[in-house]
Amino acid sequence: MTQTKSLTILGATGSVGLATLDVVAEANERARAAGQPKAFEVVALTAHQDWQGLAEQAKATGARFVALGDPRHGDKLRAALSGQAVEIGLGPEALIDAAALPSDVVMAAIVGAAGLAPALAAARRGAQIALANKECLVCAGALFLKAVADGGGTILPVDSEHNAIFQVLDRSDRVEKLILTASGGPFRTWTAEAIAAATPEQAVAHPNWSMGQKISVDSATLMNKGLELIEAALLFGMPEHQIDVLVHPQSVIHSLVAYQDGSVLAQLGAADMRIPIAHALAWPARLITSSPRLDLAAIGKLDFEPPDLQRFPALTLARTALAKGGSAPTILNAANEMAVQAFLDRNVGFPEIAAIVSETMEEACRLGMDAALGDLDDVYAADQASRAIAVRQIGKRNFVSA
Ligand code: NDP
Ligand code: MG
Repeated sequence: MTQTKSLTILGATGSVGLATLDVVAEANERARAAGQPKAFEVVALTAHQDWQGLAEQAKATGARFVALGDPRHGDKLRAALSGQAVEIGLGPEALIDAAALPSDVVMAAIVGAAGLAPALAAARRGAQIALANKECLVCAGALFLKAVADGGGTILPVDSEHNAIFQVLDRSDRVEKLILTASGGPFRTWTAEAIAAATPEQAVAHPNWSMGQKISVDSATLMNKGLELIEAALLFGMPEHQIDVLVHPQSVIHSLVAYQDGSVLAQLGAADMRIPIAHALAWPARLITSSPRLDLAAIGKLDFEPPDLQRFPALTLARTALAKGGSAPTILNAANEMAVQAFLDRNVGFPEIAAIVSETMEEACRLGMDAALGDLDDVYAADQASRAIAVRQIGKRNFVSA
């Protein structure tokens, strides 16, 4: 890359946000050593509560604007940044302001539907969106894609599976199947009885990837793969029955595309998010990175198995929501966010996550909430109503933590 790209990072203090800053720092250092202009200029950064992390990042990158979603820590952030040439915004509106500031690329790495409004602000001004926040796409569906198209921007998938598909998808009219690989999560080999007693600590201990708490629990239930199924259908315009899920415990093959002529193309690499992040940030160029190299001889063999839908029912729930369409994925996502938080708070057991999602979807359906999404107001209404149902479902369970 010879021209500097300006960059905004939404969710800069999270796992993907930190990995993004790592990629930026290395690319800028390489450019400096080669006597070239900076690869990336950081314009704006956001966090939710981590004011200390955000203040350090602002100083290290020279960002012009920082936004903290939770305004209660505003005074501490101001004190930490006093004397610095950086503007500070507080509250959810400030996240939108950060996304709306001019920049070439926006890394959307807030967790959950909370990332939707800022991502939409980036979409509306035609930014190149490096999309990690799959929940905002699942939640708003085609309306999010429309906002991106209307704004004249693009989505570059950061989720490793979708980034892999993006890299090997050339003739989308000749695709037979997309095959999403899944590590299987920490409970892949556990019995149903053992899974039923799983603790939050066990659920967030992912075997291959180091990630935020919410996506780690989603990986343990396989809801992450369910959300990714919906994400793939939207990003690549593929119907539900043409997207398979394949458990591949080593996480070496990040996903595959099977073509109608019998060819199957895959993208491989180390399980390091900096690789898809580097790809999405630099696209259509490619960066040089020091991410770990793949040593297939050392790995020796790759394993594959079908997902076990009995022990991991969340995958079927997501398939059902995708096949139904309309607000069904919005409802699924909202219920899942609430159920995962309740599990992390030790208010419900691990198997209750999928049960709460299932019962919320059924109740929402009975109430006639699973209608088409006409506009974004419908999205926010379905999201809020589903959260209220999920809260009742959680309250019905008298879970006593071990
Ligand atoms: P983390 O929990 O590590 O980080 C989340 C980021 O979002 C933090 O900066 C956090 O701020 C901020 N945040 C949290 N809640 C809110 C809120 N209500 N409003 C505004 N900002 C908020 O998550 P990850 O980095 O693991 O994941 C981010 C997204 O990327 C998720 O959608 C996930 O599914 C997706 N993804 C992640 C991968 C990974 O390897 N981690 C891989 C593929 C996709 P603070 O630090 O202040 O709490
Ligand atoms: Mg993924």
